[in-house]
Amino acid sequence: MSHEKPLEGKVALITGASRGIGLAIAHCVAGLGAKLALCARDPKRLEAAAAGLQQPGATVLAVPADVRGANEIASLVRQTEQSLGPVDVLVNNAGIGYFAPVQEASEANWDSVLDTNLKAVFLLSRAVVPGMIRRRAGHIINIGSLAGKSAFAGGAIYCASKWGLLGLTQCMAEDLRAHGIRVSAVLPGSVATDFSPHAGKDTSRMLQPEDVAHAVESILTQAPQSFISEVLIRPAQKP
Ligand code: NDP
Repeated sequence: MSHEKPLEGKVALITGASRGIGLAIAHCVAGLGAKLALCARDPKRLEAAAAGLQQPGATVLAVPADVRGANEIASLVRQTEQSLGPVDVLVNNAGIGYFAPVQEASEANWDSVLDTNLKAVFLLSRAVVPGMIRRRAGHIINIGSLAGKSAFAGGAIYCASKWGLLGLTQCMAEDLRAHGIRVSAVLPGSVATDFSPHAGKDTSRMLQPEDVAHAVESILTQAPQSFISEVLIRPAQKP
């Protein structure tokens, strides 16, 4: 393991890696030397993202998958392990938003947001944790949101998913720290991606996907005795 490539030989599985924050994290983790497994639903966009990560020495596996499905998650983990080896780093980044007053929301809105932003994190973590326990090492990094600590009109379903994610993260961290596994949450404010409209905002002053990737890098490169459990990220100035 070289100093420049601290994750050389390790396998990182990143969900929602075809664009935005997940893609920035993929570039960052590739730079640390890890082999990458990337997932998203749209296969063409995922392939394009994977192609952009290919360079000499890089290993990138693109697995189209919808993390709302337990069978697709099982297949994603199986393909990753068969092609690259056991998962050392899981970044649960795939997420969707739904923003409207609660009285306008349908059960389908609830299910798709909660299944993507919360249930998938449980299912994916449960799939990789037994191997991490056997190897007494691993990182699980969950991309939450400042909406997981605040409340605002129109945010009921999204906030519920991200508040829930924070609780899940903190409890998993306690379950797993004795096994050498660190479970962390990164909670950004608004980031300049396609996730939501930014009308009236100066996007150059907004958080960028690379800012979130930088926090992930800090978690992945900390010393073995250190546990950065939660990172909150705000823009330096209001956009
Ligand atoms: P984007 O919409 O830009 O990207 C989302 C990614 O997730 C895409 O690759 C998308 O690909 C994938 N994805 C969505 N649903 C699924 C699914 N069911 N299965 C597999 N992949 C899926 O979002 P961001 O990059 O902005 O957001 C990433 C994470 O950061 C989310 O969890 C979000 O909640 C969180 N976040 C974002 C903030 C922001 O302002 N942008 C602020 C705070 C947190 P595809 O559609 O092809 O499946």
